[in-house]
Amino acid sequence: MFEDIPVDVSPMYEGERIRSANMFVELAGPKSIGAELVQVREEVENGKVEVIGPNLSEMKEGEIYPFGILIEIKGEKLEKELEGVIERRTHELCNYIKGFMHLNQRDQIWCRVSKEANDAGFELEHLGKSLSILFKEEFPIIEEISVTLYTDKKEVEAFLENTSKQYEERDARARELSDEDVDVFYGCVMCQSFAPTHTCIVTPDRTALCGAINWFDCRAAAKMDPDGPIFEIDKGEVLDEIRGEYANVNTVMADKSQGTVDRVYLHSVFGYPHTSCGCFEAVAFYIPELDGVGIVDRDFKGETPLGIPFSAMAGQCSGGKQVEGFAGLSLEYMRSPKFLQADGGYERIIWLPKAIKDSLIDFIPEDLADKIPTEEDANSIKEIRKFLRENNHPIMERLKEAKAKTAEES
Ligand code: SF4
Ligand code: ZN
Repeated sequence: MFEDIPVDVSPMYEGERIRSANMFVELAGPKSIGAELVQVREEVENGKVEVIGPNLSEMKEGEIYPFGILIEIKGEKLEKELEGVIERRTHELCNYIKGFMHLNQRDQIWCRVSKEANDAGFELEHLGKSLSILFKEEFPIIEEISVTLYTDKKEVEAFLENTSKQYEERDARARELSDEDVDVFYGCVMCQSFAPTHTCIVTPDRTALCGAINWFDCRAAAKMDPDGPIFEIDKGEVLDEIRGEYANVNTVMADKSQGTVDRVYLHSVFGYPHTSCGCFEAVAFYIPELDGVGIVDRDFKGETPLGIPFSAMAGQCSGGKQVEGFAGLSLEYMRSPKFLQADGGYERIIWLPKAIKDSLIDFIPEDLADKIPTEEDANSIKEIRKFLRENNHPIMERLKEAKAKTAEES
């Protein structure tokens, strides 16, 4: 089936990493721009693969290029609601291709092509062709498919404008619904290939930590493929409304993690926080000195107040682990009124990167916005403490009370 493709294509290559020494070129990623998008269409030119911009053979070894992947699909049973979930599989399916590496999702994608693949004559058309075949195999409801790959900078920029509109539309829809409004949540185990004890619990308020899958996406996916990686969880008994603890969610967690994790709080970083695979858009981390919580996202390149960058922190809390004081989360979850509600929500947030603060400003309580420092205001614990004090952050009250209590007790 893959006879015209000069490299092997098989799930066996999924774990392949392409280090910079072995890389021919990098596509998208933190030093460039890029995105992926699946769109359900009325009309699709079946089998068409188009490359807009330089192809691999026209690229220079060691360089980084912008990159967009547009996948258009048609099928009688395909609904727009399925776009997000089908799109999320791009990651896994791209990685079936030997010599092609794909990380992350949406406009966070980061790809590499190996020198061996380039030497074998691998071109972007081959990527498009492989994806067409793989997507149809994975989702028999896709009847027709076409793939467009962008590498021209202007074209990728225009593509990004469109993708962000589409992502926002999907996310905004889920924002209208709350956990109380529904009887079922969903679980997703798509990331168990590399994080075997990880299950994402997706609720209306808690978009999956990869940021790519919300409650509506899951509903559509579970309906399409009830035995697939996304499944329904009957909400059942509510054990703790504020922390977000549900009896059936605990049972599912225990079952899917082979007993490693048997309790989870959906809305807290303390006690039993949600497990983290590795795809999270951001991490919430406890800062013990100030009894507050900081947030750092994947795009933030500096050091966090804990003295380590995002990458090191991600290493400590990913792989399906439940690490108290840390929780991987999506930026969309930070738009929910239940965002870490058990910990105090934004009243407990004492540091976050400027870029995400700006992007979430409409969701941060107005009276708090100026009280939460970013890397432009403070970085060390000492600087943060000073900023919080000068700006009257509610955490200072909390610290004072705690101090008074300790004094009383001693
Ligand atoms: Fe599924 Fe969670 Fe992985 Fe996203 S991060 S694909 S929701 S398991
Ligand atoms: Zn993941």
